[in-house]
Amino acid sequence: MAKYIFVTGGVTSSLGKGIIAASLAKLLQARGITATIQKFDPYINVDPGTLNPYEHGECYVTEDGAETDLDLGHYERFLNIPTSQANNVTTGRIYQTVINKERAGEFLGKTVQVVPHITDEIKHRMLLLGKEGKFDVVITEIGGTVGDIESLPFVETVRQIQWELPEEDVMVVHLTLVPYLKAAKELKTKPTQHSVRMLSEAGVHPDVIVCRAEEPLNDEIKRKIALFCNVRAGRVIEAADASTIYEVPLKMLEEKLDLIVLEKLKITNFKTPDLTKWSLFLDKLKHPKATVNIGLIGKYIELQDAYKSILESFIHAGAMNEVKVNVVNVHSEDITKDNVKELVGQLDGLLVAPGFGNRGIEGKIVAVQYARENNLPFFGICLGMQMAVIEFARNVVGLTGAHSVEMDPASPHPVINMMEEQKRITMKGGTMRLGAYPCAIQKDTLAYEIYSSELISERHRHRYEFNNEYLKAFQDKGMVTSGTNPTTGLVEIVELPNHPFFIGVQYHPELKSTVEAPAPLFVHFIAAAKKHAKG
Ligand code: GLN
Repeated sequence: MAKYIFVTGGVTSSLGKGIIAASLAKLLQARGITATIQKFDPYINVDPGTLNPYEHGECYVTEDGAETDLDLGHYERFLNIPTSQANNVTTGRIYQTVINKERAGEFLGKTVQVVPHITDEIKHRMLLLGKEGKFDVVITEIGGTVGDIESLPFVETVRQIQWELPEEDVMVVHLTLVPYLKAAKELKTKPTQHSVRMLSEAGVHPDVIVCRAEEPLNDEIKRKIALFCNVRAGRVIEAADASTIYEVPLKMLEEKLDLIVLEKLKITNFKTPDLTKWSLFLDKLKHPKATVNIGLIGKYIELQDAYKSILESFIHAGAMNEVKVNVVNVHSEDITKDNVKELVGQLDGLLVAPGFGNRGIEGKIVAVQYARENNLPFFGICLGMQMAVIEFARNVVGLTGAHSVEMDPASPHPVINMMEEQKRITMKGGTMRLGAYPCAIQKDTLAYEIYSSELISERHRHRYEFNNEYLKAFQDKGMVTSGTNPTTGLVEIVELPNHPFFIGVQYHPELKSTVEAPAPLFVHFIAAAKKHAKG
């Protein structure tokens, strides 16, 4: 059985628990210890798939088609190993399971209660990945902050696990904020003390306190926190602001977070950390030789978390190309035929983003047209690919009124149509085409040059697809469908040969880009943009 580390947060949310958890896992991995990370979210939605990106940021999709929290993206990008449905559990999913069991008569005669029924289900899921025999350590991030009404059952379950398991098999890492008061010129430890007290009142005792602070914590402050929070000296560490999230593992290494954990969990069989690839990446990231300006055309641009995986993929691909990728957010609703040149004409490449619904659609189509006609590198993802198809249909094939049935169900030319299996579906949650599907790539195409493979697998999240009734009309006018699903024939990749770089993909390559294995499409797109920048 694995050992368990729980990461809780106090004082405020958004302190970066996900990054701390991922950094710790990375360090353990670099020391030869297998680790996975899971996230328990306190909201009632069964998964974040039905949440607006403005509410919750991007919905991250795993290989097995789970719609999950964006922190799972960080876990994969750091560890370079896939996560699954089991790595993200919400209160909604817990309740759904318990209520289904109740309806099935599994608790006959009993009153079903938060303790023990809900907490037992939470415990079952918290321990599950550790029973597979694949991992030495399972790190569990508890969403929200200690003291929130809704995270109480999670904290209570951590208490039970801390009580039930041997001391060397479980530990709690608590992340807090140590604010700096400018007027007093002082770091303040009181909020940390309060949040640890709140955790202690729930019966959970932290073994390590990681302090986010804008100013360095001196030894005296660390000692004070250790004393008043009842944590061993040396187990209060600092998480200073970093210039990039990818630096955090190295900062945690300096602070010896990994050694503290190994000592507490009595793990003795570890090696000196091998972070060669990671450091190489970081070095390239910090010392770019040039800059490329990429337009991100989307409708959720006010909230950067909505495009988290895309932005991270740019970082990976930028480092690979030794350039800084400067992302210029362009709101699709603002783009018109009259201003498109002014808005995107100076950029080195355009990425038209995924999305749902009507808003900003025509602006995206105008942007695609500009890129196509002006030899500007273009990369369309999911909805972005669909917009490239619609633009080509209207302006090259001559299909007036061509559209996606998502936006215009009465379109005379539904070049993007609803998938057959989607037509019977009425429920919204978890019902899209989700997760990994194979894609066969045609030789002598840009896609083949990018992937160097005839068969790839990429992740999906959509309901609509290229309408194959129009396939011949498109091909006759020069659009190449270079990637298709080998069993269904669904078009996965479209490209234009007489263009420096024009490609649209129905899937989401950004979901598989990691530090150690950047997504090839992003790497090549940035390379094309770099070439464009040089002129
Ligand atoms: N709305 C489109 C569809 O459902 C595209 C989805 C997306 O971009 N993820 O097919």
